[in-house]
Amino acid sequence: MDTTDLSHNLIDAQIPSTTNSDSALSLCPLVIVEGFFGTAGALLWGKFEEYMHLDERDEKSGSTARRQVVFASVGPVSSLHDRACELYYAIKGGVVDYGEAHSSANNHKRFGRDRGAGLYPQWSTTHPIHMLGHSIGGSTIIKLQHMLATGFFPDAHPDMILSISSISSPFRGTQLSYILGERLTSAPSVRPLSLGSLFTKVVHVLSYVSPFLPTWLDFHTESRSMSLYETSVLELCGQLWKSDWAESRDATPFDVTFGAAEEREGEGEGRVWGGTWYRSWAAVCTKKSDDGFAHAPILATLLLPPMYICSKLLASFDYTAVKPTPSFIFANETTPRHTSPNEVIITDESTTTVPPSTIPPNIIPHNTTIPISRSQPEKEDPERAALIPRVLGEEYHANDGVVPLFSQWHPLACSATRCTHEETTLGEKSTADDRGGVPEPGRWHVVTLNDAHHLSLVPLWLKSRRQREFWVEVGGWLRSVEAAAAASERDNAGR
Ligand SMILES: [Zn+2]
Ligand SMILES: [Zn+2]
Repeated sequence: MDTTDLSHNLIDAQIPSTTNSDSALSLCPLVIVEGFFGTAGALLWGKFEEYMHLDERDEKSGSTARRQVVFASVGPVSSLHDRACELYYAIKGGVVDYGEAHSSANNHKRFGRDRGAGLYPQWSTTHPIHMLGHSIGGSTIIKLQHMLATGFFPDAHPDMILSISSISSPFRGTQLSYILGERLTSAPSVRPLSLGSLFTKVVHVLSYVSPFLPTWLDFHTESRSMSLYETSVLELCGQLWKSDWAESRDATPFDVTFGAAEEREGEGEGRVWGGTWYRSWAAVCTKKSDDGFAHAPILATLLLPPMYICSKLLASFDYTAVKPTPSFIFANETTPRHTSPNEVIITDESTTTVPPSTIPPNIIPHNTTIPISRSQPEKEDPERAALIPRVLGEEYHANDGVVPLFSQWHPLACSATRCTHEETTLGEKSTADDRGGVPEPGRWHVVTLNDAHHLSLVPLWLKSRRQREFWVEVGGWLRSVEAAAAASERDNAGR
């Protein structure tokens, strides 16, 4: 492959129809979903692919086939629901349909942009894809899989996604949303004169002049009629005074609050599916103090002053100030110790605070033992204990400058999903095979990356050692998943 040619992975470039025709589980395309305000795709992410494709096995076999990688463009500040709809139609093709009930409840048009033929119109359970998301890109993919599973899209199935990889995704919310502007006690209301409010005004002005903006700065606001062709200056001024969009439940800032994340989990979103492989990369740029769970950003973060300040604010955030109080304040959630990838300790279901009726049937509640001391609710009186805020573990203070560590791991508490946690510095082991043997479907493989912040791996390509090693790992992981899926298919056919 000519590595100087990035034309095939620019935003919304269609995957050649010949791809994946020989074997449905070989070299499945990888679709990348960017994070908040992510619109530039490959222009920013750079030439990572040449590292993703590195594989000795290819050289041995003489194969020159390469996995196709595309960026799917979705609304950079839109809600997870709207982004997931745009993501589905970007891949499958057709006019974006946000759903009749959703659009009328949130006061925007039901139909959006025509995505034409789509990036990969043959997308199905027999032609699945890999998906990778940075920040809310990961949360968007989880939302999409939930919608594939719950009948929102015709003839869809969660197995259409063979693997999900997330990088620093705020699955369970982030306190940064409150720090920047959401009111602690009345989200989605936004504090005036906050950074979040200022940012909202910028988005409205850019959306107003969107017909004149370059294609890489695309806000996907057709359904909201925000351009100068559809709204007056007076109406724009009204929105700058108080934004109907930003101060609604149908926008990114609210979706990353703890309250919104808990609502989604309560509806069954974020459960793991047996036909999908899950991997999350959780970054930490803080260090624990010697005298407790308190965390402070490492000095290297000073090179990015906004990141340093945000990390410090996240580390010292008072979760009890949020109303309604997040349930993890009270829940008897337990922290996994870092295990070898194959080690899982199944515990008594009675230790979980998630009512058995809310646990999806395909999830086996489990947990790993706790390495650090903390106050636990008294077991003798669970009802009383449930009302007493517990001392939160350090995973609630450790963060990557944007998202707390516990939220980057996976949706749902460890006690209500299936997961394996490990730490890495990258480069120590070359491939996913070396790390964990055969990856297991329906289980989150969580990799915690120390001394890394929210933007260390992506999106800006600096060709750093860590970035190069990361993409080599991603390539190896995707191949391992395909090998495991093919083996599973052979097993099933042999029965
Ligand atoms: Zn919407
Ligand atoms: Zn976990």
